[in-house]
Formats: sequence, C-alpha cells, structure tokens
Amino acid sequence: MEMTMNLKDERMLEAKKYVDRVYESVVQRNPNEYEFLQAVKEIFLSLTPVFARNPKYIEAGILEMIVEPERLISFRVPWVDDNGKVRVNRGYRVQYNSAIGPYKGGLRFHPSVNQSIVKFLGFEQIFKNALTGQSIGGGKGGSDFDPKGKSDMEIMRFCQSFMTELTKYIGADVDVPAGDIGVGAREIGYMFGQYKRLRGNFEAGVFTGKGVGYGGSLGRTEATGYGTVYFVEEMLKDRGLSFAGSTVVVSGSGNVSIYAIEKAQEYGAKVVACSDSNGYIYDDKGICLDTVKRLKEVERRRISEYVKEHPHAQYVEGSTGIWTIPCDIALPCATQNEIDENSAKTLIANGVKAIGEGANMPSTLDAIDIFLESEVLFGPGKAANAGGVAVSALEMAQNSSRVQWSFEKVDSKLKKIMTEIYRDSIKAADDYGHPGNLVIGSNIAGFKKVADAMIIQGVI
Ligand code: NAP
Repeated sequence: MEMTMNLKDERMLEAKKYVDRVYESVVQRNPNEYEFLQAVKEIFLSLTPVFARNPKYIEAGILEMIVEPERLISFRVPWVDDNGKVRVNRGYRVQYNSAIGPYKGGLRFHPSVNQSIVKFLGFEQIFKNALTGQSIGGGKGGSDFDPKGKSDMEIMRFCQSFMTELTKYIGADVDVPAGDIGVGAREIGYMFGQYKRLRGNFEAGVFTGKGVGYGGSLGRTEATGYGTVYFVEEMLKDRGLSFAGSTVVVSGSGNVSIYAIEKAQEYGAKVVACSDSNGYIYDDKGICLDTVKRLKEVERRRISEYVKEHPHAQYVEGSTGIWTIPCDIALPCATQNEIDENSAKTLIANGVKAIGEGANMPSTLDAIDIFLESEVLFGPGKAANAGGVAVSALEMAQNSSRVQWSFEKVDSKLKKIMTEIYRDSIKAADDYGHPGNLVIGSNIAGFKKVADAMIIQGVI
C-alpha cells in the first residue's frame, strides 16, 4: 500500500513539473496575453492528475501541441461609414484544434477584442465542444468593431468587408463560425449573404445561428441560456434543490441572459436583476422579460430604460454592483472576469447556493478558488454554457441532411446533452479524486476526448 502511495505521489510530482514547465513556456511565448494565460492556467492546473495516470499524453507531447493554435489569422477590415469616412478595424480567426471535427466557435464584435481574447475563447472552445459529444473542433474569432450606435447599413458594410477576407478560410467541413457578443441574427445574415455571393453557392453548413427561414435551427437562439439553466438544475437536483421558488440574479441582457431568464422563470424562479455594460436593474417583483426583450432585442436600447416602464424597479449605474444583490442562484451571462474575488465573497456572504456560468470565463481565478473552497455549487462556463454550440452542431446536422427538426426535438436533445455533460464532468471529477469539482471534471472530460484523437492522428 505504502509503495503504491509513493509511486502515485511520485507520478503526481512528475506530472506537476511537466505541466509547470509547459505553462512557463506558454507564458514566455505569449507575454501580455492575460486572458489567454488565465484560461490556460485554469485548464492546465486541472490536468495534472491526468498526466500522472496517463504518461502516454506526456510522451506524445499533447499539452505542447494543444496549447498552440493550428492557425491564427489576423486581417484588416476597411469599411466606409455613413459620412463617407473610411474606417479600419482588425479581424481575427483562431483555428485552434481540429482533432475531432471542423473548427467551430463564434465571432465576437466588441471594442475589447484582441488576440488574447480570441485565443482564450478559442482554447476554451476546444474542451467545451468535446464535452458536447459532437464532432466539432475548437475555433473563435471576431473584431474590435463596435456595433453599438452603428446604423444597419454600417453594420452591413462592415460585415461584408469582414467576410470578404474570412471567406478564404472557412467552409462547412473546414471552419464554421456562429455568433457571440455583438453578433446576432442580423450580423450572421449579412455575413452569410456575403459568403454565398463570393462562393457562388448556398452552403448552409458554413454558419450556424442562421435565421430559421434560410437553414437555421429552431431552438438555437434559446440554446445557450436554456442550456445553462438545464445544467444548473442538474447540479441543484443532486443537492435536493431546484430553481422553483429560488431568487435569481442574471448579469447581462443579451442573447444568453434573456433565455436564461426565460427558462429560470419557467422553472418557477424569481429573477430579480439583470444588467448591461452601463448598469443593472433590480425589480423585487421579478423582471418583466417582455420589456427586456423588446428593449434589447427589438429596439436596441439601454437597460436603464426599463425603470421608465416599471417605476417600482431601481436602476443602478455600474454593472458589477449586481453581485451585491442577495440571491440563491447567480448566473453570470455577460462577459469575462465580471466576478472578482470581492464579488465572490459578497455572493457567498449573502447566501448564494449555486453559480452557473452562462458567459465564458466570467469568474476570475481567485473568484473560482473562493467558490470551490465554499459549499457553493459551481458550474463552469465550459460545461454550463455548452448548449449553444451543441445546438449549433445540431444545426449543422440538419443542414447536411436538408431537414428541419421541430423546436421540441431540438430542445429535448439539448436537455439530454446538458445532462450528459453534467454527468460526464461529475464522473471525471470523481475518477480523478476531486468529487464534486466541476472545473476539474469538465476540463479532464473534454481534454481526454481531444487528446485521444490527437494521439491516433499522430504528430501533425
Ligand atoms: P450579447 O447578446 O452581445 O450580450 C452581451 C451582454 O453582456 C449585453 O447585455 C452586454 O451589454 C453585456 N456586456 C458585454 N460586455 C460587457 C462588459 N464589459 N461589462 C458588462 N456587461 C457587458 O452576447 P451573448 O451572446 O449573450 O454572450 C454573452 C456571454 O456568453 C459571452 O461571454 C459569450 O462568449 C458567452 N457565450 C455566448 C454563447 C452564444 O450562443 N451566444 C454561447 C456560449 C457562450 P451591452 O449591451 O452594454 O454591451
């Protein structure tokens, strides 16, 4: 017994040294890419027990290969604004890993987009996509273009210019983009249209998140938000809890937030707050989702305007203050690093029972540590928000067989996928000695699927 323990400890030590060494080289090769290094660190820390138990991954150099994108494309996006002035933005696509399928991941249009952001998102996407059980590799892209305040024609001209370049690198079996922050049905329509025009064929499977009238899947719009709630409901169930009767806070008021609110309300929760990048609203009677949908999806206005129609509600300037509102369940659905150490402590002090990350990397590494050390249930984004890309893969399946499934069929598949992701992550956490730790569990479950495929395909 003692010998086994020693051997196990020795292997863990060797594995840790290996992971530290590779991480150090990643830091040196990617200086100043803070978000990317943060995402790498979180995943690498989880993987030590995998390398200790499976030295074949070390021998095959899997970690060194998986952390380096297969391809990183950066390009100029010139366009002309409504005043005839030439504007120039920068476009990106990171084609991170194609071991288990074509690159797949959204496009983000936001002024904060840079190489570090697309690499962090692309790296996370590899593991998330593997977790869905679908054949999709990892990719991500976007631009530092800000769609806010632009006219429809400016959006169209920008999207056409962006796609004129990106078209060279994508295809239904090559790389399949979708939406993300700042990219919804309108932007995808313009980009798909330009791709079709340049290629001269209707290749539906090249984009997901399309309108349902031209190859989009029913249920894709709702998928990420609904999926997050399905995932969190599974976590809660294991502890004899549920959304029913709970008080919920959801950050953001975009695509993910709106449909997380919708499903949480359907499950009997009272959602008391949501936000945008300027501030948050608090409605103790429960958020009126019809108002939020109209303001954000139709009229593209600010969340502050909610209180004009619901004067009993409060609007507070500054978006991070939302985490001071006492709640049972917190769903960060806006952006990266929106919950820091202090917000995590405040949430716990106010009695939060579960966190479900609808956004990508919304909690800092310190905040995650605080959640994991507490009794709080913590569902990391990689697992909890995988429903969007899972339904994107279902959209690809419908496109290749030229059929359209009913909303109910897509939604029931989504629910099943989210339950399986939860079970797979719990099982991996258990198997590797960290029961209940979904960060470690989801990272390991996703990594192993990709790593095994990489080994079979050789050094490429
Ligand atoms: P979206 O529709 O553009 O909405 C984003 C929301 O977050 C908006 O309310 C926005 O407010 C807010 N926001 C953006 N930047 C912010 C900041 N710096 N501080 C505070 N609030 C900010 O985007 P989305 O598709 O819902 O994406 C939200 C998150 O989910 C992102 O992390 C994304 O990567 C992740 N995600 C999305 C999908 C998907 O299918 N769409 C799938 C998986 C993960 P403003 O309007 O003021 O900017």
